[in-house]
Amino acid sequence: ADALAGTESRLRRGDPLSQAHAALLSDPGLRADAETALGEGWSASTAWWRAVQAAAAELAAAEDPVVAARAVDVREAGSAVLAELGLDVDRIPADVAGAIVLADELGPGEVTTFAERGGAGIVLGRGTPNSHAVVVARGLGIPLVLGDPALPDGRALAAVPAGTALAIDGDRGTVELAPAGAGPAEQSRVGDPEPVFVAGRRITVAANIGSVAEARAAVAFGADGVGLLRTELLMLDRPHLPDEDSQVAQLAEILDVLGDRPVVVRVLDAGGDKPVRALQLDPQHNGFLGVRGLRWLLANPAVLHTQLRAISRAGIGRRVSVMAPMVSLAREARLFRAAVDDALRSLAAEGTEHAQPEAVGVMVEVPAAALAADELGTSVDFLSIGTNDLLSYTFAADRTEPGVAELLDPDATAIRRLLSQLCEQAGVPVHVCGELAADPQHAAWFVAHGVSELSMAAPRIPEVKRVLRGGSG
Ligand code: PEP
Ligand code: MG
Repeated sequence: ADALAGTESRLRRGDPLSQAHAALLSDPGLRADAETALGEGWSASTAWWRAVQAAAAELAAAEDPVVAARAVDVREAGSAVLAELGLDVDRIPADVAGAIVLADELGPGEVTTFAERGGAGIVLGRGTPNSHAVVVARGLGIPLVLGDPALPDGRALAAVPAGTALAIDGDRGTVELAPAGAGPAEQSRVGDPEPVFVAGRRITVAANIGSVAEARAAVAFGADGVGLLRTELLMLDRPHLPDEDSQVAQLAEILDVLGDRPVVVRVLDAGGDKPVRALQLDPQHNGFLGVRGLRWLLANPAVLHTQLRAISRAGIGRRVSVMAPMVSLAREARLFRAAVDDALRSLAAEGTEHAQPEAVGVMVEVPAAALAADELGTSVDFLSIGTNDLLSYTFAADRTEPGVAELLDPDATAIRRLLSQLCEQAGVPVHVCGELAADPQHAAWFVAHGVSELSMAAPRIPEVKRVLRGGSG
């Protein structure tokens, strides 16, 4: 029980996935099963592992692949307790640099460890495109192939001797024998830290992140900064919102990794597709068209105030800007700016050390905001286009619903007109931090229309930089 409590509290202080694991450990059924096994005379570690395996097997048998994929999370959380009991459960060897791992399953934490030790690629027998391990690998830029791919000569991968040189392509989902003389497999992870100039103008090519591991990936891929730090990802699976001091510590840990690179911290974007557990949001009331993002924060000013204070405290000696999600009206942008000023005043009044944000901005994710960009620009220092939501709201098509995915056409007349007009009228610097920024052709279009910062999943950075440089001759 001590090991369990110790592991749980350690995981609760960790990144969002660790916190999700902590929540799994608090499952009363799991504890009851372990106690039953203890009563049957098993040792503590065996009793615990039997309960974990039973819970994982039950999940793995579920018909819904999303539920089945959680079996590996239960095993990973369970093995953290074994580690607390002194059993070595680190399954990732120390010398995986440049290696491709073949595994039936890996936990998200194991993917991070594999990346930190220089691993180059993963072939995962079981898992879905949205399982945690796959999402983590994507954010870290580790090529990952799902299923049981055969080599072009028809041989099963499992039949290939360890040590064989392989080439993995996560985009095409293929694994091949590496051509003779090929270099180590991690070539695709080479970063590009050089700045980009287009027609003499400096373009910031930045990363979207939501964890310390992604901050490290941003640095590895040569990000000039972070254009979007999604703070809700630091809180998603927590039973309670972290208090001000915990938020300062979480942010400082990420900012330390990023050094002197500029970072735009976005305040909580709860609701819509981001169900922050601690807030117990209602899918209808807080849905895509409901009280989400800045709307929710303005209705809960104490949460916004605490978060803005934490950001200003964590920003000491660092380059931090702050921005708000889901703004529809210029009035909301003014209220956000006033909330920033209010947080700074309260820190100054009590003599708490803090730093002014370098800039205050709002996101443009709603057509109403795009059409009034000039009005929004009068009360903030920059606008950042969230193309994921802007496409969704422009075409009235849910970004999470595959049945309407074809409507989210970034080349359609409506969105082109909206974006051109917004770039032309903003009157303040315009950034882009939605997925479209990662597409080299669209990135070049944005730059040609005056956008000064593009922010994207870190692994996309080298390619976007390369194409932008090409465009500048
Ligand atoms: C967006 O909507 O484009 C965006 C960057 O924000 P998120 O994906 O976090 O909603
Ligand atoms: Mg958004």
